Amino acid sequence: MVTIYDTEALEAIRRRTAVQPHRMKLFRNALFKNARDWDAALETLPENARADFARSVDFECLDLAERHDSEIDGASKLIFQTRDANLIESVVLRPKTGRTSVCVSSQVGCACYCSFCATGMMGFSRNLTTAEILDQVTQSNRVVRPEGRAIRNVVFMGMGEPLLNLDNVFAAVDALKAAPLFNLTGSRITVSTVGIPDAMNRFTSEFPDVQLALSLHSARQAARERLMPQARKYPLDELREALVAATARGKVMIEYLMLAGVNDREEDYLALENYLKGLSVHVNIIPFNEFAGGDLRGTPLPERKRFAARLKAAGFDVTLRYSLGSDIAAACGQLVQRKQKESVA
Ligand code: SF4
Repeated sequence: MVTIYDTEALEAIRRRTAVQPHRMKLFRNALFKNARDWDAALETLPENARADFARSVDFECLDLAERHDSEIDGASKLIFQTRDANLIESVVLRPKTGRTSVCVSSQVGCACYCSFCATGMMGFSRNLTTAEILDQVTQSNRVVRPEGRAIRNVVFMGMGEPLLNLDNVFAAVDALKAAPLFNLTGSRITVSTVGIPDAMNRFTSEFPDVQLALSLHSARQAARERLMPQARKYPLDELREALVAATARGKVMIEYLMLAGVNDREEDYLALENYLKGLSVHVNIIPFNEFAGGDLRGTPLPERKRFAARLKAAGFDVTLRYSLGSDIAAACGQLVQRKQKESVA
């Protein structure tokens, strides 16, 4: 069986079943543009080809297990179950100003063990396949379609470190950009990383037009290692070289989660300003969603505002982010952990 995202294999089936190209286009539009169910999409094909397509094509590899809609903002958390009974999360975001986005997972669990992340506490199970990554986008599109919306941005910031699943993530980005499939421009796709220099270099040379985000969180080596064990492997000076190369191709998003007493003091600010000096970056100051099991606390909003204002005054592009979906356990991995516990109990 081939996946619905395998355009070459699908073309072979089209030829075999003698489906006209314009009918194939209708079929694709039904699935990817109009977010129809696969059985409704099949009806756009000639009747004599439907059984062959239904037999040969794997249309869906994830089951939507749960949906949690925020009552205070436009976020929806979707929990999907894979065929081997793993749970992963995607988050649909409907910001008041801006385009409807989905934040997708790239792995089941994560091997990076960031101390501020609920997923980091789950350990790593496996990489998601390209189809499992893309299915999150397809099904999120179906969720928002009845609202007259469409997914316009895809962000790889869910469970897992995308650049540790390089081949499948690269293939997923190709499919997201492909005209017969999702047809998104590179600027509508963001891949976020903890900072793996070699993989960042590969990513930026393969996809110079796709947005790269670096989870920096501290420009002091010791503080960064406390937050992100991967930082021991990839020290800040090595990371900066990759950042210089990446920013030569376009602006890089810098994610900075503000944590009380950890990365929000005077020395933290000065280290950050110095580290980013001269680079083409956009800094996102992010609030922390506290979760059970973590002992970190978020920096209060007035201090986050002051920190952001100083960066702005120093000449950086800065966005002060507000948490979306804080009433639906927005910390990455939190809902999956809860559901796993329920199924064990
Ligand atoms: S923040 Fe990202 S890279 Fe770090 S543990 Fe969580 S999912 Fe993994």
